[in-house]
Amino acid sequence: MRKCMACPRGCGIDRDTHRGYCGQSSTFRIARADLHMWEEPCISGARGSGTVFFSGCNLGCVFCQNFRVSHRGQGIEISADELTEKMLELQARGAHNINLVTPTHYAEQLVPVLKEVKPQLHIPIAYNTGGYEKPETLQMLAPYVDVWMPDFKFGSAQLAKDYAGAADYPDVAARAIAKMYEIAGAVQFDAQGMMTRGVLVRHLVLPGCRKDSIAVLDRLAKIVPVQEIRLSLMSQYTPDFATDAPFANLHRRVTSFEYDFVMAHAEKLGFVGYMQQRESATAKYTPDFDGEENM
Ligand code: SF4
Repeated sequence: MRKCMACPRGCGIDRDTHRGYCGQSSTFRIARADLHMWEEPCISGARGSGTVFFSGCNLGCVFCQNFRVSHRGQGIEISADELTEKMLELQARGAHNINLVTPTHYAEQLVPVLKEVKPQLHIPIAYNTGGYEKPETLQMLAPYVDVWMPDFKFGSAQLAKDYAGAADYPDVAARAIAKMYEIAGAVQFDAQGMMTRGVLVRHLVLPGCRKDSIAVLDRLAKIVPVQEIRLSLMSQYTPDFATDAPFANLHRRVTSFEYDFVMAHAEKLGFVGYMQQRESATAKYTPDFDGEENM
């Protein structure tokens, strides 16, 4: 029996017969594979990012903006060969990169796929993760991944425990991001300004949690050279998906004061990157996972 230890949850179950925290078997399940225009400009560019959204998640945040996919596992099962085909199709359609979204729980299964597809790609592969990763898993993926796109979600163990059931998240994510920088080095861009290598850290500012955001930024500044990564500070939190969460602060949007407070601190620390208009904080900016027309 193969015991899954792919991520820090360490469930130790056989995913062919049981389900762990991520809720997924060892067979790929994806919710969407399409060109995506709503990533950062250096990722989406003019033609879009070749995004593959995997179903399930090893974090399962209570406010998840894609909860149908991450919590309920919405999607279709596909084989490794079909996944390879989808990546090549996205490249043929003009994708600037192949963007693997929430891939952590499929990391082991992805290795043979990426080994097969990488020599056929002339665009970078991006690993777009919640940041709850084991360094050895990242090392295993190092030969195939060009751009690392981790979230750094929480700075305090209490918040990480309350919102994602993972009190160790701040330490785990900090180690993972340091490992990604060790693998990729300083950010690199092509002549069109598209990111070809490096680390792009995302942080979603949560309502009522601006001090935690400051803790995240302070910690990040200690583990990587701020000028050598890119930071994406997101304000798109929408409460539409947290109506059942027992935390009153999550039932509203982020205020301009909160976002500006965090942004000012990021600038003071010398981070370079992307800030977001608050107009993006509506559910309509959440990708549509209905139907199979984008598969
Ligand atoms: S990948 Fe899934 S089953 Fe495996 S350890 Fe992580 S949460 Fe558990």
